[in-house]
Amino acid sequence: MSRQHSPLRLRGHHLLCTGLFVGEGYSDTFSVNMSRIVRMLKEENVMLELVCGTDEICGACPKTACEEADSSENREKTEVCDLPSVKKKDQKLLANLGLDRSPQDTYRNIIRIVRERLTESMFQECCGDCSWNKKGLCSYEKYMKNIED
Ligand code: SF4
Ligand code: SF4
Repeated sequence: MSRQHSPLRLRGHHLLCTGLFVGEGYSDTFSVNMSRIVRMLKEENVMLELVCGTDEICGACPKTACEEADSSENREKTEVCDLPSVKKKDQKLLANLGLDRSPQDTYRNIIRIVRERLTESMFQECCGDCSWNKKGLCSYEKYMKNIED
C-alpha cells in the first residue's frame, strides 16, 4: 500500500512495540494488522506522524487490551484506547527522545534518532509495567539489536 500522500499515524510508544514484535498479540486480527504495519515500516520508508493517542495499530486491537490497564471502568474501545495513562506514556517517550517537536518524518530518520538517544532508563520508564515486558518478550537490549542498521 502506498503511503506517499498520508503519513501513517503511530503513537509514541509503538515505536518500541513495532521494533520488538515477534508475532504475538492481543488477538489474531491484531497480530495480522501489526505484522502488516511492521512489514511496511521495514520495507517501505514510510512517512510517520507520531501521535499521543490511538493509531492504526490500536484500530485492530480488541477493546479489552487497554482495559487491563484500567479495569475499574467499562468504557467503549475508542475511549479505552485513549486512556490518559497510555497517552502519558507516548508523551513522555517522545519528549525524552526530543521527537515531540518534530512529529512527522520518515520511519528511517525517526529510528536513527531513537537509536542515538534511547537509554535503558527511558525504555524502562515506558515499558516497565507492560505485561509483555514482564513476560520477558521485550527488553532494551533486544530492541537496540533489532533496530541496528
Ligand atoms: S514492553 Fe510493552 S510497551 Fe514496551 S515494547 Fe513491549 S509491548 Fe510495547
Ligand atoms: S489499544 Fe492500547 S493495548 Fe491496544 S494497541 Fe492501542 S495502546 Fe496498545
